[in-house]
Amino acid sequence: MKKQRTTNKRGLTGTGLILTISLISIFLATAASIDLPPVTQVPATLSGHLPELLCSPCEAFHNLNTQILNGRIDKNEAVVRFKTVMRDLKIFTEKADPLRTVSGRCVFPLQGYAPAAIGGKNGSGYIALGYDYFDGKNHGGHPAHDLFIRDSNQDSRDDVTGEPVSVLAMEYGLVVSVKNAWEKNSRLRGGHYLWIYNPRDNSLTYYAHNDTIVVRNGEWVKPGQPIATVGRTGYNASQKRSPTHLHLMHLKIENGLPRPENRFSKLSSCTRH
Ligand SMILES: [Zn+2]
Repeated sequence: MKKQRTTNKRGLTGTGLILTISLISIFLATAASIDLPPVTQVPATLSGHLPELLCSPCEAFHNLNTQILNGRIDKNEAVVRFKTVMRDLKIFTEKADPLRTVSGRCVFPLQGYAPAAIGGKNGSGYIALGYDYFDGKNHGGHPAHDLFIRDSNQDSRDDVTGEPVSVLAMEYGLVVSVKNAWEKNSRLRGGHYLWIYNPRDNSLTYYAHNDTIVVRNGEWVKPGQPIATVGRTGYNASQKRSPTHLHLMHLKIENGLPRPENRFSKLSSCTRH
């Protein structure tokens, strides 16, 4: 045993050290060749954020939502499980809500932008007809608002500032699902998306097509807190014909089930950051 340890120690100072240096060099060379997002897009630390909690209902929501999205669960079973997950989330947030006292104000979810960014005429982009959450990726309708940024060359940066545009949490809530590994050729429409549960009005908000997501599942967020940057991820959103935008959908939970809600008026009245 003693001899083994000695060998390992010697190995580390010799061959192991060379191997370690080689691996670091390879990593650095690879990192340099990959198109990494600029450092300014991601906060150096998440120190301004509340620590994420161990949130099993968040995990359960994420898993179920993924199954529904991919059509990997029977619709009737999905409905039953959804009700259970939402009940568990409600109980969880009643017990542990570090932001209970945070104001109920809303913040316009694109930093530096105003409600003029909302697509359509007076929110006409919102079409609830034909939408059923449980249809997953094959759902109809568009019970959402698309919020467009100035990005004529489609590089996901604001034409004026040259910087990425932060997606801000519209209201306070608990992050219950984060998907940030969308593949370029995937038919999935949401791309890099996240869901935030608001216990105060028992609702879910869906932010889709993001570039970089800077929060994690189980993390509480305050209104106006950066949660992502606007991007072009998702099957349709990544196509040339699609101007760069944030897709924003709000689902009220009623009798345990999700019902889309048009929040055009609310969005128009939110504080701008
Ligand atoms: Zn949309």
